Amino acid sequence: MKIIVLKFGGTSVGTTDRIKKVAKIIAKYKKNYNVIVLSSAMSGVTNNLINLSKKISKNFSDSEYDVLVSSGEQMSCALISGELINQGFNSRSWVSWQIPINTEGKYKFSRINKINKSKILSYIKKGGIPIITGFQGINNKNRITTIGRGGTDASAIMFAKFFNAEKCIIYTDVDGVYSTDPNKLKSAKKIKIISYEEMLEMASLGAKVMQPHSIQDARLNRVDIEVRSSFTDNEGTLITKRKNIINSKIITGISNTTNDAKVTLLGVKDKPGIAASIFKPLSENSINVDMVVQNISANGKETDLTFTIKSDDLSKTKKIILQNKKINFRDLIFDKNVSKVSIIGVGMVTTPGVTYRMFQSLAKQKINIQVISTSEIKISVLIDKKNVRKAISSLHKEFKLNK
Ligand code: ASP
Ligand code: MG
Repeated sequence: MKIIVLKFGGTSVGTTDRIKKVAKIIAKYKKNYNVIVLSSAMSGVTNNLINLSKKISKNFSDSEYDVLVSSGEQMSCALISGELINQGFNSRSWVSWQIPINTEGKYKFSRINKINKSKILSYIKKGGIPIITGFQGINNKNRITTIGRGGTDASAIMFAKFFNAEKCIIYTDVDGVYSTDPNKLKSAKKIKIISYEEMLEMASLGAKVMQPHSIQDARLNRVDIEVRSSFTDNEGTLITKRKNIINSKIITGISNTTNDAKVTLLGVKDKPGIAASIFKPLSENSINVDMVVQNISANGKETDLTFTIKSDDLSKTKKIILQNKKINFRDLIFDKNVSKVSIIGVGMVTTPGVTYRMFQSLAKQKINIQVISTSEIKISVLIDKKNVRKAISSLHKEFKLNK
């Protein structure tokens, strides 16, 4: 029998009633598959655990943090397993060290690098349904690790990879990936099938359906993912390789960010090495610079430089720039009222004129574009936050995403 991996997110296992529903879903797949289940903690539990650590200390030990915050998953797995046993199934919970799931890297941000298959394989061969803790593993010191918030997505994808599963199904509280945020635009349509590359852009640009690095793991390992809701029976979204997609649309989706800030240095010396002097200390302080524009200098001496960062990094960035003795500038301006709106689609690789259509459509709405950046499959513009809904709605129409 083929193997299928099912992942349940926090809201799907948020109450004991929800857990009973989850057990029914598992039972349905069990008829045709060997099922491996990965579960998150019940919603809210991980946050509560993190708060407890903060009450002990602001500098709570990283290794004990992982022991603490991973414990929510043990609880939900036992509840799911207990319900399946109630229903007469052969099931048991597994925590990471019992398998084991090996990780590498730092506490709080480890990555799974190996999963020992033998125990789980012999268990499913005997008809058992393993319910496995997501989000956690152990390192080479035999200590518990966690793999970043929302990490159960990545756990599930790694299980699908190591066990060569037919598919990894991510059960969540939305019934798929939408052409744009349905809370922002009513006419948003569910995407039936999307490539890893597009999904990666959608996820990292603001669509919060899945954890971005888990999609990267899926892409590298060619794991097909289906995102669907445990609250409805609606068909979900399939995330797969480009080759599997016969795409008729140029643009697959539109996303926007809510946590960007814009920094402008006015009157910077226009000479080689200046941009490097500005960005070097930022990178040394792990500040991620995203979009960058530099004006052509009008007088050959001075220019203006604008870039975006995450708003959380704003005060740190300000301090670093003001302390930087290697640069001179006339003025420094910060703006938090910006949002990056992006159109994403593998179809644009082969279709000319997409950039023009995007800009034209924004111009018709009198929306000013502040900064532009592009990649092979996406075009992003930075605009005033107050225009986001208008921008999304006009682009959605322009690229016929409501159809
Ligand atoms: N429970 C963890 C979190 O809240 C992992 C997960 O949900 O996937 O981040
Ligand atoms: Mg979660």
